[in-house]
Amino acid sequence: MTVLTKAPPQVPVSSTPARGSMLATALAQLDSACDCLKLDDGLRAIIRQPERELTVAVPIRRDDGTVSVFTGYRVQHSSARGPCKGGIRYHPRVDMDEVRALAMLMTLKCAVVNLPFGGAKGGVTVDPALLSDGELERLTRRYAAMILPLLGGKRDIPAPDVNTGERTMAWLMDTISMLEGHLVREIATGKPIALGGSEGRSEATGRGVAIAAVEMLRRLGRDPQGLSVAVQGFGNVGQYAANILAAEYGCKVVALSDVSDALHNPNGLDLQAVTAHVRHSPGHLLAGYGLNGCVDHIANADLLTLEVDVLIPAAIENQITAQNADDIRAGVIVEGANGPTTFEADAILKDRGITVVPDIVANAGGVIVSYFEWVQDLQSFFWGAEEVRAQLGSTLRRAFQEVWAFAGRGGYDMRTAAYVLAVDRVASAIQQRGLFP
Ligand code: NAD
Repeated sequence: MTVLTKAPPQVPVSSTPARGSMLATALAQLDSACDCLKLDDGLRAIIRQPERELTVAVPIRRDDGTVSVFTGYRVQHSSARGPCKGGIRYHPRVDMDEVRALAMLMTLKCAVVNLPFGGAKGGVTVDPALLSDGELERLTRRYAAMILPLLGGKRDIPAPDVNTGERTMAWLMDTISMLEGHLVREIATGKPIALGGSEGRSEATGRGVAIAAVEMLRRLGRDPQGLSVAVQGFGNVGQYAANILAAEYGCKVVALSDVSDALHNPNGLDLQAVTAHVRHSPGHLLAGYGLNGCVDHIANADLLTLEVDVLIPAAIENQITAQNADDIRAGVIVEGANGPTTFEADAILKDRGITVVPDIVANAGGVIVSYFEWVQDLQSFFWGAEEVRAQLGSTLRRAFQEVWAFAGRGGYDMRTAAYVLAVDRVASAIQQRGLFP
């Protein structure tokens, strides 16, 4: 059945996403996948636009009695393949275009690993470090109440992202449960285990990054044992990825960075000591580690250009750009963060023969275990940690192999293959459902 007619091509999602912005990158990658598929213009126009967007002004009472108003967003990019799924980010640079880009990435990520979800994202423009715990709780509860019309276990299911975590999801779930009059576990994932969270969720994204790195190395004929790894960003994703690669696969993690410092030791960092330092330090930062001279303190930008076997950008977007792509000396880049490589940089890396495992595959471990959490919540039947790990491993390895095989058949790099597979799945769902009414 053909349900879609020709539409004006390239309908812009916002008037003009800023050059080099995450949305510009996401749309350029999407367009290139649509070109490979020779996708119908109408389907392309649908996939380029989020289905639904909400901006909210979130007032909270500060501890000193004054009132501050923060801007929050929730964007549902696509529900063609299932309920929209995506995290909530608290960061001073959050804006509508960033949330649109991240929502689109979620649609493609869920499609490429074949989860029955669409994509969404949310965020509040705020520096959470400047708010007390009480202020953060009030912000989260008010934001949750204001985006509630979009949410629901069958409609749109939030999760943690940058600067949000289990505690944020507990507040969000409690707020919605109070408003609905009953416990609504399946409204969010990434919750504490006592509230219906899943075993293995907090480590899931980092574990997935480690699995993706090892799968790629093995296909390149390289044994991960002893290979050098640099990780930018030592938060949830970076910490688990670094520790799992070292402890379970014998990799040598030689460099780590966060907003406060960048550490380097070519003989390998003492990860247990660094991780313990970060867990107990104010703000959970690297700052203050290694003052006895056991490591070199380097510039954050220099970590990206170290000569290492594997580079894992696991901090924020737009870190590998046209300005530094020529200087990257890693053999393989595994994208722990969402959108760490700009479209222009990607082309440079490809020309230089650097293999990139794209974000929508490499960091899909989080949404895979979020899917398991949602399934467990709906069934009120909970799995053990080993079962979660085993299911995560098999789901991610199967997706990796599908992308790898598709790349081989089509002569694509991994990112193009992942995007083409994902866009094809989303487009097929839209096409087969047809246009309502
Ligand atoms: P987080 O807030 O726990 O950690 C982010 C880390 O990056 C912190 O150590 C921070 O200090 C560091 N950082 C920030 N800016 C930096 C910079 N310019 N240079 C170096 N370090 C910097 O966040 P997270 O949950 O680990 O998420 C990291 C990335 O992974 C984000 O892009 C996020 O969207 C993506 N991601 C996260 C998940 C998840 O389950 N948490 C899932 C998929 C993708």
